[in-house]
Amino acid sequence: MDQSTIDALRAQAVPPRLHIIDGKSVPASDGAVMDVISPIDGTVLTSMARGTVADMQSAIASARAAFEDGRWAGQPPGARKKVLHKWADLIEANALELAVLGVRDNGTEINMAIKAEPGSAAVTIRYYAEALDKIYGEIAPTASDVLGMIHKEPVGVVGAIIPWNFPLMIGAWKLGPALAMGNSVVLKPAETASLSLMRMVELAHEAGLPSGVLNAVTGEGAVVGEAMGLSMDVDVLVFTGSGGTGRRLMEYAARSNMKRVYLELGGKSPNVVFADAPDLKEAAKIAAGGIFRNAGQVCVAGSRLLVEASIHDEFVAEVAKVSAAMRVGDPLDLGTAIGAVNSEVQLMQNLGFVESARSEGGEVVLGGSRILESTGGYYMEPTIVTGVAPEATLTQKEVFGPVLGVSKFESDDEAVRLANGTVYGLAGGVWTSNLSRAHSIVKRIRTGV
Ligand code: NAD
Repeated sequence: MDQSTIDALRAQAVPPRLHIIDGKSVPASDGAVMDVISPIDGTVLTSMARGTVADMQSAIASARAAFEDGRWAGQPPGARKKVLHKWADLIEANALELAVLGVRDNGTEINMAIKAEPGSAAVTIRYYAEALDKIYGEIAPTASDVLGMIHKEPVGVVGAIIPWNFPLMIGAWKLGPALAMGNSVVLKPAETASLSLMRMVELAHEAGLPSGVLNAVTGEGAVVGEAMGLSMDVDVLVFTGSGGTGRRLMEYAARSNMKRVYLELGGKSPNVVFADAPDLKEAAKIAAGGIFRNAGQVCVAGSRLLVEASIHDEFVAEVAKVSAAMRVGDPLDLGTAIGAVNSEVQLMQNLGFVESARSEGGEVVLGGSRILESTGGYYMEPTIVTGVAPEATLTQKEVFGPVLGVSKFESDDEAVRLANGTVYGLAGGVWTSNLSRAHSIVKRIRTGV
C-alpha cells in the first residue's frame, strides 16, 4: 500500500449507486436519490438510491423466491463453500479499492481501514466458508421406538442492518454465516457508509452467488429499515448499531411476525489502570489508541478511563501527551492517526457532549474543539475530560466520538463499582502486574469482551 496508489484511487469518480435486487442494479421505485457526502472535505461524492418501502418489499420478495426454489440453499455444501472462498479472493484482490472507497465515504483512517475492513471481511467469509461443511446434526436420546433427529437448517430470509463505522467488517459478520448456511439475505447499509458494502455485494455476484440470494437496498433507516423490520416475510433480523434502533427492531418484530432479532449495540467500555501496571507508558499509548483511532467511532472503544488515584495526574498527563501527538487529518494520508468524524451531525453531537461534560464539572485537559474546518471536512481534536462523576452524561451515554472521560478510584471495589456503573457491558480492559487481581477484576466487571 503506497500513497501514490491511494491518491490515484481517490481521484476516481464514483458512479451513482443503485439498489441491487435480483442481481440487477435498480433505481428507487420513485427515482429518488440522496447525496453521498464525503466527511473528508464535505463534498458530494456521488448519489445513491433513496429506497422506498416498495423497494424493500421487492428485495424481500426476491430473497424469498430465491430461498424457496433452492437455487442456493439447495446447493451442496461444497458448492456454497467454493463461492464463498471465491468471494473472499475477490475481496482480497480488490482490497485497496474497497478500502479507499469506504474511507471516502466514512472517514476512517486508511491505515486502519485496510486491515479492519476488506482484510477482516475476507477472513470472516473464509471462516464461514470453512465452517459450513462441518456442521453436523444430532440424534436425540429417545425411547427405542422413537427417532428424534436434530437437523441444522437455514432459517429463510435474513434482514441485515449495518452501521457506518466498519461497514465491510460488520457486513461480513452478518453475511458470512447467513449465506454459508444457505439463507437468502436483504442488506440495508448505513446512509453514510453504503458505497464499499454495495461494491462487496457486487463482488459476491462476480464470485458466483446466484441472483436474488443477496439483495441490497440503500436509503434511510427510518424508511427502508423500518419496512424490513415490519415485514411478515423476513424471518430473522441481524443488526449492529445504536441501542435506540435496536429497541425499535424488537418492537417491529413484536408488531409483525415475531421474527428473531439479534442485536449488537453500543458501549461505554471501562479501561481500568492500577498503579502497579507493568508499563504505564505502554498503557497510556494503548488507552489513547483505544479511544481515538477511527475518531472514537468504535463500539468497543475504551471511552472511560478509570485510574488509580495515586498515579492519576501522572498517567493522565502521559495519555494527553501521546494523544496530542496523534495526527488528525485527511484519512487517506498514510501518516494520519485519527481520520474524520463520519458526518457533520455526529461532529456536532460530539461537541455537545464536551459542553455537557464541562457544565457537569468535568475539566477538559486536552482538545474539545472542531479543527481543520477550512478543509470542509469534519474533524475533531482528541479530547480528554477529567473529574467525570459516575452519574455524569459522559459516564452514562455513548459519545461514539473522540472523547475520553477520566475518573479516579481508590480501591479494587471502587474500580469495579465504577466500571459496572452504566447500562452498557460491551468490553473492558485492566492494567496491573498482579495476576490474581487481574483475574478477579476481569471476573467482576460485567462485560462481554
Ligand atoms: P444507528 O442505530 O443509528 O444505525 C445503524 C443502522 O440502523 C443504519 O443502517 C441505519 O440506517 C439503521 N436504522 C436507523 N433507524 C432505523 C429504523 N428505525 N429501523 C431500521 N433501521 C434503522 O447506529 P450508527 O450510528 O450507524 O452506528 C453507531 C452505533 O453502532 C453505536 O452505538 C455503536 O456503538 C454501535 N456499534 C456496535 C458494534 C458492536 O459490535 N456491538 C459495532 C459497531 C457499532
